[in-house]
Amino acid sequence: MASTVLIRDVLKQSRARQQPVISFEFFPPKSEDGERAFFDEVLPQLVALKPHFCSVTYGAGGSTRDKTLAIVERIQRQHGLPAMAHLTCVGSSVAQLRQIVQQAEQKGILNILALRGDPPMGTGGFAPMPDGFRHAWQLVRLLREMGDFSIGVAGFPEGHPECPGGKRADWDFLIQKIRAGADLVITQLFFDNADFWEFWEYLTQHGVQVPVIPGILPILGLQQVLKLTRLCQARIPSSLQRRLEELAGDEEGSIEFGIEYATRQCEELLRNGVPALHFYTLNRVRSTRQILTNLRLI
Ligand SMILES: Cc1cc2nc3c(=O)[nH]c(=O)nc-3n(C[C@H](O)[C@H](O)[C@H](O)COP(=O)(O)OP(=O)(O)OC[C@H]3O[C@@H](n4cnc5c(N)ncnc54)[C@H](O)[C@@H]3O)c2cc1C
Repeated sequence: MASTVLIRDVLKQSRARQQPVISFEFFPPKSEDGERAFFDEVLPQLVALKPHFCSVTYGAGGSTRDKTLAIVERIQRQHGLPAMAHLTCVGSSVAQLRQIVQQAEQKGILNILALRGDPPMGTGGFAPMPDGFRHAWQLVRLLREMGDFSIGVAGFPEGHPECPGGKRADWDFLIQKIRAGADLVITQLFFDNADFWEFWEYLTQHGVQVPVIPGILPILGLQQVLKLTRLCQARIPSSLQRRLEELAGDEEGSIEFGIEYATRQCEELLRNGVPALHFYTLNRVRSTRQILTNLRLI
């Protein structure tokens, strides 16, 4: 088996060369046809853009457990692209999490995004298993104990919506995850860079040195943004909402606008020194490719 490249090393090498790292996020397709289309059409086109790494989500409630690992393993094997498996605490005891981590290691998967996770829609709030973890930092600690993994965690520039103490209290919990052993942070999507800068400044002032990677959503249209922000509670700036409402029903215009919006967002982030960009590709090619072309990163 080829040795697995650790994403923390990819980030370190690119930082030394002052090159931004580009990563793509995928979700496991639901059907066999979807999976075929993903591997035969979508993935080769996205790999051709030469991202430095990618990540594969873990379905709500742990619903894609086996698929996530299988897809990560196949991407690494077929394309030699370092890939990170998302892993959540939902619906798994600590013993089961240990087993999944062992399976991952056997498949040569050493890059893991350690998450608490969300339960499936409509099943109420997060409830830990009686013998499971309540928070992501516990999963980070388990991974650190179990092997030499490169561990990512989620960060929330607007604060995590459930945190009763507000965004700074949530950012302190993020710092706890980093102290438990995380070596990179990937953020929730956000539409106003001012939110990211405030978050970044807070972390920097509190001694965080691991790379903090902004998560970028290429907007496809009003309905998509409303649906995603209902789930993750990210704020839609009023000027953005107005523009998307004007474009409602104009699919082409909305996609072009989304490309332009993300390009401007990324330009400003890169100008001010972010080490990397993480694209929520939604298993689509066009917008991500055009944004990277606009940024002259391909
Ligand atoms: C980049 C990214 C990728 C994602 N991928 C997936 C995925 O593949 N599958 C999926 O199901 N979900 C995914 N999510 C969503 C994520 O699982 C949810 O947002 C979840 O609600 C929080 O996960 P977390 O890892 O941040 O949890 P935690 O860090 O445990 O935080 C959860 C809540 O608990 C609070 N908290 C944290 N530590 C403590 C503590 N010690 N004491 C008290 N309160 C605390 C936090 O402030 C927060 O409100 C992703 C999110 C991001 C940003």
